[in-house]
Formats: sequence, C-alpha cells, structure tokens
Amino acid sequence: MEDVVCEICGSAEYGVLLDKLWLCEKYNWKKEGRILFSDGIPVNYRNVCCKQCGLVYINPRMTDEETIKFYESQYREIYTAKDETKIDNLPFTNVHLGLEIYNAVVRYDFLKRLGYLKKGINTLDIGSSFGALPAYLKERGCNAYGVELSQFADYTNELFGVDTIFRVPFEDLKTDIKFDMVTICDALEHFSHPKNVLLKIRDLLKDDGIVLIEVPDIFKPHKPLFGFLSNAHLYTFSPNSIKNLLNIGGFEFLHFEYGGYCMNMRVVARKGKFREIEFRDDFNSIADFFLRYDKVYSAMENYNRNILSFESAMKVVKETISEYNPIKFIEAFRAYEKGDFARAKELLMECLQSDFNEEDLNFQKGNIYGLLAIICFNTGDMVYARFFLKQAFELLPKLYEFPYLEGLANKGVFNIKEFVMRRGLYYEELFKMKRILKNYEKKT
Ligand SMILES: [Zn+2]
Repeated sequence: MEDVVCEICGSAEYGVLLDKLWLCEKYNWKKEGRILFSDGIPVNYRNVCCKQCGLVYINPRMTDEETIKFYESQYREIYTAKDETKIDNLPFTNVHLGLEIYNAVVRYDFLKRLGYLKKGINTLDIGSSFGALPAYLKERGCNAYGVELSQFADYTNELFGVDTIFRVPFEDLKTDIKFDMVTICDALEHFSHPKNVLLKIRDLLKDDGIVLIEVPDIFKPHKPLFGFLSNAHLYTFSPNSIKNLLNIGGFEFLHFEYGGYCMNMRVVARKGKFREIEFRDDFNSIADFFLRYDKVYSAMENYNRNILSFESAMKVVKETISEYNPIKFIEAFRAYEKGDFARAKELLMECLQSDFNEEDLNFQKGNIYGLLAIICFNTGDMVYARFFLKQAFELLPKLYEFPYLEGLANKGVFNIKEFVMRRGLYYEELFKMKRILKNYEKKT
C-alpha cells in the first residue's frame, strides 16, 4: 500500500469521506494471499476528497504491483455479474455477457446519434473486456481495435470472430496506428494515473480525434455506497473533476449526458489545448450528499422488504433527495400487478419527471414508457398506447440489432430471450402489442 496525493492538482490536503472495510468483511478476505490484508491486518480502503479541487480518490491505495496482482487473481472473482445460468466451462454467465452486449448496443447508438460513426475510421476501446463494442463497430465498417488486460480478451475472437484486441495493460500498448476515436467506458476510474491515460490517448489520436469517456458520477450512485465506492475504483469522479482532468489532459469538452446500464457520466471531448484547473472544495457537498443518499437508499430497501410503507419511504425521499424515484417505480409496478392501472400510470408519469440512477434495467426510461404503453393498451387507450410504444422503442437499446446474436445462440453461449426476460425488459410484450396495434390500425 502507498499514500498518494491528488492526481489532478497535486495537493495532499483531503477530507475523509468513507472509512470502511466493507470488502474485507463481505468476502472474508482473510484467505491466504489476499492483498487486502497486509501482514494479517486488514487494509482500509479510505475514500478521500481533495480539499483543493474536489477529486475523490482512494488513499492509501494498492501499489502498481499490488494492483496488477489484484486484477490477475481477484478482480473477476468479485466483480463478474453472477446468476445461476453459468455457461459450461466458461468464466462468465448469460447475464454478464448480456450486460456487456447491452452496453455495446447503447454506446453504439449513442455514438451514431451524435454523428461520430463513419465507415473506415480507426477506433480503440480501452478496457474492451469481451470486445462487444469493437465487434459491433467492426461489423459496421470501422477499423475497430480494443485493449484489455484480463483473460476476457481471449474470448473476443471466439465469440465475435474479431482478432484486433491487444492483450496488454493500456500503459504498455505500443502501436503506430492513429485513431479517430478512443472509447474508455467503465475503465478510467480503475487506473492509478488517469492523467497519464489521457495523455497517452491524446498521443494515439489524430489531430481532430475524439475520446468518449464513461465513468460513474459521485452524485449519482446506483447501489449502496459501500458497493458503489468499490476498491477497484481508485477514483470516483464528479462533473467538475472529470472536466478538470480533461483540462490538464489536453482535451476540449464537446458533450455531456448520463447513459448506459449504470447511468454513468458520458463525456465526449476533442483533442485540443491544455487548460487550467478549476479549484473547488467539494468535500462538504459530497459528504452531505452521501448522508442523504444513504437515507433514501435504506428507505428503498426497507420498502422493498415491506418493512416501510410506500408513504413512509416517500416521506424520507421528500426530505432528503427529492428526485430519487426507484421507490415510485416499484410502487407503480405493484399497482400494475394488482390491476390498478390508473394509479400505476400516475406514478409512472411522475417517474418520467426525474433522474434515473439505479443499476436496474427495470427502472430505466425506455422500460417506463414500455410499461405505460402496456397499461394504456390494457385500458383500451390506443392513441396513448401507440405514443408510449414509440417512445419506448426509441429509448430501449436496440438489443435485437446486435449483429452477433445468432452466432452466439448457435454456439450456446448467449440466450437473448432469457436475458431480456430476466432483466425485466418489456421487449416481448411490446413486439406483440406492436403487431396487434398494426392490425387494429388496418381495421379502423
Ligand atoms: Zn486536487
């Protein structure tokens, strides 16, 4: 372990945000050779906030050597999406592969919507895992590459027939190729030196090249804080700290939104000038937000377990983080299942007014429109059913358009229907409805 200073501004002044041995407790890491224990003593993963610029980082943290060991031996064991549908002899499950495909589809859609995708461009995906995004880009005419240090890189060719993945740590990547676009999604927060990562990306890009960064926002956790602030995330950025990082990395800010499976910050920036840091002490606002978030999240869990009524849970929300809505969505779904369509509709309409920051596909906007469409269809309101159906199809990721599904199914490594059903995505019912509405239109 080593003590570190702020990566962005170099200050050693910080406030402690979270001081908890959650991983050691959760996984009983007293097992032999675990690096979270040093000489038999648990290592504390403290999250601190820089008092100068507001960057949140782990301090002290694993040395670079320990980090490599961690990724080789422990990371995938802890952080691979698990379910009971384990595929024979493969180190991943249907759900895990499904979520990676889901992410590739939404990222592809996003890049297409912003007009960044052109045939023949060179792309590099950093932390490409199974390589679903490079595979999709390649299928659509890009010269797509990936770089991935874990064993998942070995499956890209097997799964998608793509052999342009460099299996090295990004820091060690050597290539003469100049890229039009670099994507780094759910990865930058894992690096010890994100500034160096950005400088290296800058070197790899053509003069007008762009980078897409997706990272969690500290103000939008999507699970309990102890899980959200994972020991693998050496940094947890905020809109301000990611902007600062781009400033010192020589990038010009182009676009910002929230999206993807975890509703992360999505930032697009172009290679440009180096700029100054914007100093800001975010410690108090983050600490205060954490307290409030913890309260609403506990309220949701207690509501889920029927310990707290909907009214009591919503009271907590109103007093703490008023835009937090997953409780409302669950209540809407409960009303829908009871056949109380009017109540369900009312709650869903309210859900659409606020942010979505839960790590559950059910809670996301496309699905909410989907449920609204199904309800309107059930109540015979065909005009609104059609309207919501259109919205749902626009917002739900176009999973069925992922070009490799048939091949994956033939190989027996992925079952899209099961993934869709298990994650509570409303595709099946919406497709049925679409057909019925079409016939209905013909008759009227
Ligand atoms: Zn700082």
